[in-house]
Amino acid sequence: MKAAVVREFGQPLVIEERPDPEPGPGQVRVRVEASGLCHTDIHAAHGDWPVKPAPPFVPGHEGVGLVEETGEGVTHLAVGQRVAVPWLGRACGRCEHCLSGWESLCESQVNTGYGCDGGYAEKMLAWADFAQLVPEGVSAVDAAPLTCAGVTTYKALKVADVRPAQLVAISGVGGLGHLAVQYAKIAGATVAAIDVTDEKLELARELGADILIDARTQDVGAELKRHGGAHAALALAVSPAAFEAVNSGLRRGGKLVMVALPAHGTLQVPIFDTVLNGTSVIGSIVGTRQDLAEVFQLHADGRTKVIHETRPLTAVNESIDDVLHGKVKARIVFDLGAGGRER
Ligand code: NAD
Ligand code: ZN
Ligand code: ZN
Repeated sequence: MKAAVVREFGQPLVIEERPDPEPGPGQVRVRVEASGLCHTDIHAAHGDWPVKPAPPFVPGHEGVGLVEETGEGVTHLAVGQRVAVPWLGRACGRCEHCLSGWESLCESQVNTGYGCDGGYAEKMLAWADFAQLVPEGVSAVDAAPLTCAGVTTYKALKVADVRPAQLVAISGVGGLGHLAVQYAKIAGATVAAIDVTDEKLELARELGADILIDARTQDVGAELKRHGGAHAALALAVSPAAFEAVNSGLRRGGKLVMVALPAHGTLQVPIFDTVLNGTSVIGSIVGTRQDLAEVFQLHADGRTKVIHETRPLTAVNESIDDVLHGKVKARIVFDLGAGGRER
C-alpha cells in the first residue's frame, strides 16, 4: 500500500510503498477512501508543538474508509462498513475523564497520525472502539472533514454554551471555520465571521454568516463591540494576533474558546479587563465519540454543507503549501478511491 510519510520535520513528505498493516486485538484495518488535510497535520509534519510525533510517521486524522479486516475480539464492526478514524485514536476508558464523558482529555490517549500512523495512506489501522460508523447517505469525502474540523468546532460551541440570540465570532474561516459558521447558525446565534481574504469572507456569507469582518483592514475588536460584543469567540486562525483581536471584542461575561494551535503561541490576557469584564479563556480539544456521532447525524439530516476540494495523495506537498498560503477554499480531501461517489 502507498502512504505519505514524514521522514524529517519540515521536509517534504515522501510517498512510500509499505506492507499492509495487520490489525491487532481490538483493531480493524480500514481501506481508506478519503482523507482530509487538517492544519494540525502541517503542525505535525513541522514538529511545531512541545509534544512532538516521532518520524517516520504517517499523518492524517480525517481518514474515512471501509473496514477490510477485523482483529481478535472485534464484535461490533464488520467488514465493508464505512468508518471514520479521528484524532482520538484510543483512550483508556477507565480514568476520571473517560468515565465522565471527556475521553478527549484522557492522559493515556493515542492520537491518530501523531502517536500512531494515520490516514495519509491507502490502508490504516484503527481501534474499533474509537472508529466511528459513518451513517448511510454520508459520502466518504464529506465525512472526512467532519471527522476533525466538524467535531472540533461543534464541541467548541458546546463548550461556549452558545444560545440562540447570542453573537458568536468565528475567527478564521478555513477547514474548521467553514463548519463552525454553520454550527453556530444551527445553534441560533448571530454569526460574525473574521478572515483575511475576500474568498473566505464570501464563503462565510454563503454559509450564513451575518457580519463579515476583514482583519486586514478593520479593527476586529471594535467591530465586534459595535455589534454589542461577542458572547463567544472561537479562535480558529493560526495567528496569536487573531486570538488577541477577538478577545478584545468579547462583551462582558463573554468566552474566548481557544482552538487553533499556532507554533510557540502565547496570548497576552489583560488581567484588569478580564476581571472587570468577567470574561473567560477556555481551551477546547477535538470532541468525543458522541460529539462526532451528532456531527454525522446533522450532516445525514442535510443540515450542514462540507466544502472540499479533492486531490490525489501524491499532491500532498503542494496541498500543504496551498493551505499555508491561504489558497484553499475550505478543506482539501485526498481521494484514495472514493471517486467522489455518494455512497
Ligand atoms: P486552515 O488553515 O484551514 O484555516 C485557518 C484560517 O484562518 C484560514 O481561512 C486563514 O485565512 C485564516 N486566518 C489567517 N490569519 C488570520 C487572521 N489574522 N484573522 C482571521 N483569520 C485568519 O486551518 P484549520 O485546519 O481550520 O485549523 C486551524 C487551527 O486549528 C490549526 O492551528 C489546527 O492545528 C487547529 N486545530 C485544533 C483542533 C483542536 O482540537 N483544538 C482541532 C483541529 C485543528
Ligand atoms: Zn484536525
Ligand atoms: Zn482515560
